[in-house]
Order: sequence, then structure tokens, then C-alpha cells
Amino acid sequence: MTAKIYYQDAYARTINAKVLDHKEKNGEHWLLLDQTVFYPGGGGQLPDKGLISGKPLLEIREKEGNIWHKVDLSEEQAPVNSEVHLQLDWPYRYYQMQQHTGQHLLSALLHKHGYPTVSVHLGEVHTLIEVEGTLPENTLLRQLENRAQQYIAMALPVKIHYVAREDVDRFELRRPPKELSTLRIVEIDAFDFSACGGVHVANTAEIGLVKILGSERIRGHIRIKAVIGQRAFDYFDELHQVNLLLREKLNTDHLQFNSRISQMQEEISYLKKLAKFYDKYFVQYESARLAKETKDILIVHKLEYGEQNDAAEIAKKLSGDFGKVAFLQFDRRFYLSSPDPEILDTIKFLKENADSLEIKGGGPQGFCQGMMNKNNSDEIAETIRRFLRRKS
Ligand SMILES: [Zn+2]
Repeated sequence: MTAKIYYQDAYARTINAKVLDHKEKNGEHWLLLDQTVFYPGGGGQLPDKGLISGKPLLEIREKEGNIWHKVDLSEEQAPVNSEVHLQLDWPYRYYQMQQHTGQHLLSALLHKHGYPTVSVHLGEVHTLIEVEGTLPENTLLRQLENRAQQYIAMALPVKIHYVAREDVDRFELRRPPKELSTLRIVEIDAFDFSACGGVHVANTAEIGLVKILGSERIRGHIRIKAVIGQRAFDYFDELHQVNLLLREKLNTDHLQFNSRISQMQEEISYLKKLAKFYDKYFVQYESARLAKETKDILIVHKLEYGEQNDAAEIAKKLSGDFGKVAFLQFDRRFYLSSPDPEILDTIKFLKENADSLEIKGGGPQGFCQGMMNKNNSDEIAETIRRFLRRKS
């Protein structure tokens, strides 16, 4: 049996341990140690990270009271009966302890308000608590969060009891035990009792901060998302960085963000209307100018400004209002229009020339659009001209 130092002293970060067994299988090395500071995970809590004699702990497994550590140490480097040095990734573990204890506190408060916990997920960043019941009001969540913060400020001791099964009735357990052997009961100073095999901080003050981010319906339950301890401070800092950036960009204080953005949205919608208005004149002006400049029936033009829809509208206008055949280009898009299939059958033209001109497109008779594979508007114009001459 491996002595579980993480239960005796959750704050132990380094120890030396004796190698009781060393197994090699498929190039993997597994060490059985006489004692360990590494929590193997379970009850929603993630397994610990750290180093064994300078090498990263790759995986950890508990099997019948024995704790096996997967680590890249050969049989020569860590033989049976030798000593290895264990070093816990403390910031990572401490966050797990904060998070787990904070989750106990939140679950206890939720329970007292008629939301018993069904399951928990203690993640690297977020804490997810699934509860029974209907979607809680945001005001209730704010209230629970404030209540949790009061318990944190009170620095209530977190006590651990090992209790024989027959004595369990002495405790008013929120979370019923699953196993039949000796129970490990985690108590937050007479306020909450639950059977739990995880690792916790010594008093509620160490939880630091709890922030509920929201709640949603999932699989017939309610899932509450929170950030706890170090991650709550990290979250605050992230928001602060975003705040600084937005303050600079919006040139105002965060309390004014909402009205500033509403004002910008109004400006945008006004400018859009204005752009639409001027765009109509731009299309009219450009088509009249092009029609006037070119005596030829064919007008070839590449639109350098405006937007692609303008090119389409100009092509349509040149045919509709001025009786021209128009080939308008915008980037690699083209629009081909004709006032009459007797003058230019756009469908037939595309069908016969698309492959050789490397263009792709389609559309109803009199107006087609598509993409040009290369910048060959001169070649396309010449082909249209030949097509027109063939007709006449
Ligand atoms: Zn726990």
C-alpha cells in the first residue's frame, strides 16, 4: 500500500519515496512507491502534475491501494529499493484544492436553496456543477455568490473525518457515500458535510474568490458554470485587459461602453443608408459616363472602386438604359450584359467560349456573371467583338 501523503498533509509539496516495484511494459515505466504526494484524481478532481527525480509525471493510477506512477525513468535510473524525489506542481495543485473546496461551498449553498448537486466537473479553467431543478434566476445566483463570499471571508476551517460506516448517521451528509468501508467526510465548519476523496484547502479563506458565470439547461439538469480561486483572479485580469483595450478604442469609461456602442450602431445604420443613397447616383453617373465615352456597342470596363454589386448594376444599366453590350470587371468577378439576344446571346456566348477563356459563370439570357481565372479582359473583349461581328 502506498501512503497517501496528500491526505495526511495536503500542503506537502516534496518528499523522497522508496521504489517498491518497477514495471516496464511496451516501453512504459511504472513505479510503485511507498508514499506519494501526487493525488491520482477522482471524485471530479484532476490528477496531479509534477516531477519524479526531475522527470515529468506522465500518468498516475491507483489500484487496490497501490499508487503507480508512469515516468520516463529506466530500470537503472530508478531500481527497486532506490529513492526517488517527488516534486508537486504546486500552483496547479493549489488551484485544484481551491476549486474543489469552492465547489463544496457552492454545492452546499445550492443544496440549501433546493438545487441538489448531481455531478461536478472540476476543470483546468472552469468549474461545472450540474444540479436538479429549474433554471435559477440570475438574482438568486448573485445572492449565492455573495453568500459564498461571506463564508470565504469568515475563514471557516475545513475538517476531515474518517468515520466507520456504522457511525455515519452522526453526520448530516449532503452527499451520500458510495462505498461501504471507512468514509472520508469533508466538513466546512458545521455548515456542510459530504463524503469526498478529494484534496481541499484548510479553510474557506484560501478559496479566495468565487464567480458564477452563468447557468443553462442540459440533459434535464441545470449546469452552473463558475470560476474559483486563482482562475477567478485570472478571469478578472482577462476582463481587465479587455477593459483597458476597449477604454482606449472607445475612448470612454467601461460604464459608458453600452451607450457608446449604441451610439456607434446608430451612426453605422445612418451611414449605411447614406451610402446606399449615394451608391444609386454613382451607378447612374458611371453608366452614363461610360455610355457617353464609348461610341462602340461594346463597353469593357474594370471598376476600381465601389463594390462588386455596383459593377453588376452598371452592366445592367448600360444594356437596359443605353442599349449597350457591357463587360464589367470587379477584381476577378465579371458581369456580361446584353440588351437583346439578337445582338449578343449571353448564354450561347458563355457556352461556346467559357472553356477557352477560362471563365466560369452563368445566368439568365441577357445577363451573366462569374469568375475569371486570369486577368484576360482584353482577350475576352476581343472574343466578344468577334462574336458580335459573326452576328452582323
Ligand atoms: Zn471534495
